Amino acid sequence: MSDSGLLIVVSGPSGAGKGTICDALRQRFPNIHYSISMTTRNPRPGEVNGTNYYFTTNEHFEELLTQDAFLEHAKVYDHYYGTPKKYVYQMLQEGKHIMLEIDIQGAMQVKEKYPQCVLIYIVPPSKAVLEARLRGRHTDSDEVIAGRLAKASAELEWISKYDYLIINDDLNTAIEDAAAVLQAEEKKADRLTHRIAVLKEQYK
Ligand code: 5GP
Repeated sequence: MSDSGLLIVVSGPSGAGKGTICDALRQRFPNIHYSISMTTRNPRPGEVNGTNYYFTTNEHFEELLTQDAFLEHAKVYDHYYGTPKKYVYQMLQEGKHIMLEIDIQGAMQVKEKYPQCVLIYIVPPSKAVLEARLRGRHTDSDEVIAGRLAKASAELEWISKYDYLIINDDLNTAIEDAAAVLQAEEKKADRLTHRIAVLKEQYK
């Protein structure tokens, strides 16, 4: 038996640097496993099925919804996104941390179902910086970029529902900040029931 792992939920606008920060955290905390979401959107160039996402059809996604196969799901820009439930609970039970990179709608559903989760919001320091990063990716049309910027502004209202806010101005600082959050969360006494029981034995 071990204490269950941390369910870490990371959100923030596309272009916030979530992916880079999450990759750095996974290198630093080998106990973190990444939940691969399922989506009905098309793969972007370079994206691999089963690595970036499980890409699927609307029909298949809706069938899985009827089977209650998702911990959370949302429709973002007319496409479904969801977190397959089984893998998440399996990892937590095995004492491993699981990291979800999902949008706010999904994060709120996770908080509802698993209140012990750790919610982290990552945001660039300004709309201008976000826009420059999105344009620099050369993946989205002007229309898509405008939509992402509008969404980022609207989402600021939700940040206070999160446990931690990381402003990604300087990437290395943002990574250090996020690592500090996880280091502290790992040591919270109220989730270390098993560890405390072992200590009690050792102190007998
Ligand atoms: P993108 O299409 O740029 O990869 O992702 C668009 C948005 O969907 C991002 O905000 C991303 O965090 C979110 N997203 C990705 N996977 C999931 C998921 O499984 N559930 C939810 N709710 N959002 C997701």
